[in-house]
Amino acid sequence: MRRFSLVVLVIAAFSACHPPQWTTPVRAPFTEDPLEPSRPREASSPRIPAVPAAPFGSVAARLERFERATLVELKSLAGTIRVERRGREVVSSDGQRGSVITIGSATTGGVAIGDRLYRGSILILPHAQGGLSVINHVPMEDYVRGVVASELAIWSASPALLESQAIAARSYAEAQLRGRPGKHSRTFLSDSTLDQAYAGEYQPGKSEGAQKVAARLRRAVETTRDILLVVNGRVLDARFHASCGGRTASFESVFDEIDPGGMTPVRCDACAKSAADDSTGSTPASANVTWKWTAEPEQLNSLARQLGLGTRLRSLFPVRRDNTGRWLEVRLVGDRTGHNLDTTELRRLLGFNNLKSTWIIGTRPAPGNPINGSLTFAGRGRGHGVGFCQTGARELSERGLSAPQILKTYFPTATLSRVSSRSALLPASDS
Ligand SMILES: [Zn+2]
Repeated sequence: MRRFSLVVLVIAAFSACHPPQWTTPVRAPFTEDPLEPSRPREASSPRIPAVPAAPFGSVAARLERFERATLVELKSLAGTIRVERRGREVVSSDGQRGSVITIGSATTGGVAIGDRLYRGSILILPHAQGGLSVINHVPMEDYVRGVVASELAIWSASPALLESQAIAARSYAEAQLRGRPGKHSRTFLSDSTLDQAYAGEYQPGKSEGAQKVAARLRRAVETTRDILLVVNGRVLDARFHASCGGRTASFESVFDEIDPGGMTPVRCDACAKSAADDSTGSTPASANVTWKWTAEPEQLNSLARQLGLGTRLRSLFPVRRDNTGRWLEVRLVGDRTGHNLDTTELRRLLGFNNLKSTWIIGTRPAPGNPINGSLTFAGRGRGHGVGFCQTGARELSERGLSAPQILKTYFPTATLSRVSSRSALLPASDS
């Protein structure tokens, strides 16, 4: 495992934050993003445009549920607008036509699509593979509020939990969009868990309780406005997950990227205790840190066919684990041949919501034994396990820890910096 400087820096209290003194990352030139639609190779005109980058201080979020849609209907101050694709252009019912159509602005209070409300503006453009792409250009703090509301059960969340999640989400977005060590910056983030869940503005009901929740959310994001996690002079590419199971995972065991540092595995007492409590049956299964899931024969055989192993999956076992017991690599043996697979890829193929983590504590039949029907997995934790653990953070906040204390638990080498002017994050040559 790669080692980083172990100088532990004390996380400054919010009130004690000073303007950043750190050197700023040089933003690599944008080349191509695996999540972006590829640009057309032919020179015919008009070309399909790349996703326009959001103005500085804003985030471009791609609304996945409209990927390749044929028609999008929106409501703004101007009324209801329908947008469709015509060839390589888009046309709207209010008379706009072009390679990109923009509806709403930061000052219009947002745009409604279905039951969701998006602050900022909505951009609609052709998708390279047909249909439309829909992008929300949203001011950073509005975006962070939306992410916190989507990522946490906010009704029962304390201010410290909301604040720590807000800082982690803001740091992730800044690091992804403004450049990461060894990697170019990106133009947009997905609104799914590919990046951070984001469903637009939180819309509370009219009840007094809902209004209080919304006020608490607004206050938490406002309190942490412009505060970022910083490691070695760079904004931390802060990852987070639902529950680690008792110890967080190493970055390089999960992501096929250069480890940005700052996310060394740590013990998470709250999850470890919850995992122990699960066996007593004192918590409902949905709140458990441990889990079981059974793959039915058809799912297993379909997996075998998909991987070219034959028509039946005969056995499955780990070939590489980390020191906590997470499975890093598995071998799947079918009736024709065998194949080694990254366990995160196995999770993707079987469904991230089914195989909830790579911390697999056992299977039935046992690993390597013949599978003659279904296969039951038992494991700990939910999600990839890297960085900030939402379950552990909730428990720590209920014990009275502040947001800086919670963040220090999961990112011990990070400091908090309030970036009063976001331009401080830009290299001097990039104005
Ligand atoms: Zn945890």
